[in-house]
Amino acid sequence: MADPMISTTSPEPAKVNLLGLTQAKLEAFFEELGEKRFRATQVLKWIHQLGVTDFMDMTNISKALRIRLTEVAEVRPPEVLQQLDSADGTRKFLIRVSGGNAIETVFIPDGERGTLCVSSQVGCSLDCSFCATGKQGFNRDLTVHEIVGQIWIAAQSFGQLRENGPRKITNVVFMGMGEPLLNFDNVVDAVNIMMHDNCYGISKRRVTISTSGVVPALDRLGQYTDACLAISLHAPNDELRNELVPLNKKYPIAMLLDSAKRYIDGLPDTHRKMTVEYTLIDQVNDRPEHAHQLAELLRDLPVKINLIPFNPFSLSNYKRVSNNALRRFQQILMDEGYTTTVRTTRGDDIEAACGQLAGQVNDRTRRSERYSRSVSDEVVRIVPHG
Ligand code: SAH
Ligand code: SF4
Repeated sequence: MADPMISTTSPEPAKVNLLGLTQAKLEAFFEELGEKRFRATQVLKWIHQLGVTDFMDMTNISKALRIRLTEVAEVRPPEVLQQLDSADGTRKFLIRVSGGNAIETVFIPDGERGTLCVSSQVGCSLDCSFCATGKQGFNRDLTVHEIVGQIWIAAQSFGQLRENGPRKITNVVFMGMGEPLLNFDNVVDAVNIMMHDNCYGISKRRVTISTSGVVPALDRLGQYTDACLAISLHAPNDELRNELVPLNKKYPIAMLLDSAKRYIDGLPDTHRKMTVEYTLIDQVNDRPEHAHQLAELLRDLPVKINLIPFNPFSLSNYKRVSNNALRRFQQILMDEGYTTTVRTTRGDDIEAACGQLAGQVNDRTRRSERYSRSVSDEVVRIVPHG
């Protein structure tokens, strides 16, 4: 009897998911099929501007080529497991990615502006002490089509992907789950697709890559993109930053600021500023002396500062900054001449705030296991005294 585990027919070759191909890669794909390069422009518009996933509906392409495409390729966005709408208009998607994992993507409307916060990895390996994603450990990098799939899904949900559809998504920030510069090639391609005129056409001034400071990758970034840059600083000195962002031990503040400045200086347009993100945690990094030290540290750099009140989550003992400390911190920086904004918490009712994005990570680093063990140890220690 045939072994049921062994298939007698050879497996079909995997189809190429065109959702993840840049214009250049799609042109190369068509050339390989013996087709003209301009097919890439047509297909990109069908996919990213009109939301069409069935090649047979791509009516300006010959029938023979449409049939050929169905044989070798597909346009397959990831599956939405759940869509949650907040009372304030924030929309969160829980998206299935292969391997039994889920990632989160958040859309935040603000007047004319609509910002999509995308994830770049399943989990994160960097383990910042205040971040829920970090506490979950790391599983894997997202593919280009999984990153682009997030904007495709969100745009589709707003009816944006049709002739004259509303342009709801005006900005993209890589501030969801994961460290974008540790998934360099895929993030660069995804950014390219988001900005491309035949795709989403988002301006380079409206796509922001946020990094906790992977300096060697940041040093290379300017060769591949001219997107905006945000650096997650969170502390004005190395001693404190080592505690909050362990990666700082490898790439300390001075190195990071140097590299970030070189990136900004290398951009073709002048007057661009990088965003310095600073998550304010009660009694940890929210003192006036921290604000003064930060002002000194950033002197003469092309920066604007974004203060993020820490959002608590169950595995963390940190507390949100008090309103008084927040206002005082902001005032000191403004008095020193810095443009300083405070990120308001949105989507509270659907757990869509910064740092709360957890999805479901099949942790390969066993970090989440270590954390839950240390939390239950704590419970055991507490019980005898209770
Ligand atoms: N890995 C990248 C991008 C994802 S994190 C980075 O670190 O920059 C995006 C932003 O969310 C970072 O600035 C991070 O500091 C912030 N963040 C993480 N956890 C948070 C929390 N619990 N409360 C508020 N902001 C948080
Ligand atoms: Fe990773 Fe960014 Fe979270 Fe740090 S803050 S653990 S780099 S996702």
